[in-house]
Amino acid sequence: MIILITGASHTGKTALAQKLLEKYKYPYLSIDHLKMGLIRSGNTELTPVSAESALTDYLWPIVTEIIKTAIENKQNLIVEGCYIPFDWSKDFEPKYLDNIKYYCLVMSDKYIKNHFDYIKKYACVIEDRIDDAGCTLEAVRRDNAEVLRQCQNYKIDYLLIDEDYWFDITEDEINDINKGIEEIHKRMDHWFTIDRVDSETIIISEYRHWEETHCYLLNGKEKSLLIDTGLGISDIYDVVRELTDKPIVAVATHVHWDHIGGHKYFPEFYAHKEELEWLDGKFPLTIETVKEMVVDRCDLPDGFNVDDYVLFQGTPTRVLNDHDVIDIGGREIEVLHTPGHSPGHLCFWEKNKGYLFTGDLVYKDILFAYYPSTDPEAYLTSLEKVAALPVKKVFPAHHSLDIQPEILIRMANAFRQLKEDGKLHHGSGTYHYGDWGVWL
Ligand SMILES: [Zn+2]
Ligand SMILES: [Zn+2]
Repeated sequence: MIILITGASHTGKTALAQKLLEKYKYPYLSIDHLKMGLIRSGNTELTPVSAESALTDYLWPIVTEIIKTAIENKQNLIVEGCYIPFDWSKDFEPKYLDNIKYYCLVMSDKYIKNHFDYIKKYACVIEDRIDDAGCTLEAVRRDNAEVLRQCQNYKIDYLLIDEDYWFDITEDEINDINKGIEEIHKRMDHWFTIDRVDSETIIISEYRHWEETHCYLLNGKEKSLLIDTGLGISDIYDVVRELTDKPIVAVATHVHWDHIGGHKYFPEFYAHKEELEWLDGKFPLTIETVKEMVVDRCDLPDGFNVDDYVLFQGTPTRVLNDHDVIDIGGREIEVLHTPGHSPGHLCFWEKNKGYLFTGDLVYKDILFAYYPSTDPEAYLTSLEKVAALPVKKVFPAHHSLDIQPEILIRMANAFRQLKEDGKLHHGSGTYHYGDWGVWL
């Protein structure tokens, strides 16, 4: 999410950026700071008093690339200042535009006339303006009128400060901005969020459900492997089809509803022998319970009707065993049987890249080991198994993707300690370890 704040002089751009920083903890980039850094370091012949158009031509291409980088990295950033052209949006493809909210601040002529003393007094509310000689009534009126005219010309959104000075109505304004942000989130209402790990590995996430489930698409030269197919609330096939033109094999880390939701779209799928019964009418939860979990803490997409939700059932095209290898052409993925969370739970290990796809065995949140079908002792053995691998990157099935391989060792150690303390059994309680925990 990028918030672009620009506008006429003395409209409080920097103060707004500062307030958003405080309220939302979004960092902000001041284009003025960038300008001064580039000028003072001798990177340009331009000076602070060069023509605004020359400064814009120089600075804006740099700022656009900063914005694109932040969006690609899924980082929030407020960008504040002048030197944002009115036709700014032409420099971004739609995928970037979806992530940018633009605000242009303008004061009405009436407002400036009625409140000029106030404007002058608060002009330096954040920046200590050393030389603000340009802040004359006429100059401010001229500048604001010009910005307003350009906004109307280019048909772009602007926030008109007309009746009240908006430091006096900060909360409302912030709420307005907040609504804007919510709108953007809604507009990004693609159910799935796509992140790229490398040119041939893609994360497909479902952040609108509290479980924050991640599926992984591994593209090989001959096939693509989809590790887990998600919640089944929205059609993952549509998304996957755009990310590969190879035949797709689906595989589940385990046969829980939130990992096989999209299996119906993939006739070729593999599963572990220990969970075949769950795919054949013997899943331990009723469909009513599953439906409750589907709608729990979820921003459901339009048109979704939970009454139509069904639990996937089927026969896999290949039954997997521990240490089997799935070859998708130039990429070999080893199957690791890692029971504990469920009897046939699998992790997928791509040794060449050091990638470990951990399913529900490892993620940053409360691990579940209390259902009757879980096995705390087996969980420990499985953690020890994956902790011994030279893992470079951990890819969990839920929650934060900011997860480092060292967590595997911490989890194995904690489980071992629970065993030594005689607590590694159902009903012993919930244990917290900072960024993760386990419910036994
Ligand atoms: Zn699970
Ligand atoms: Zn899960």
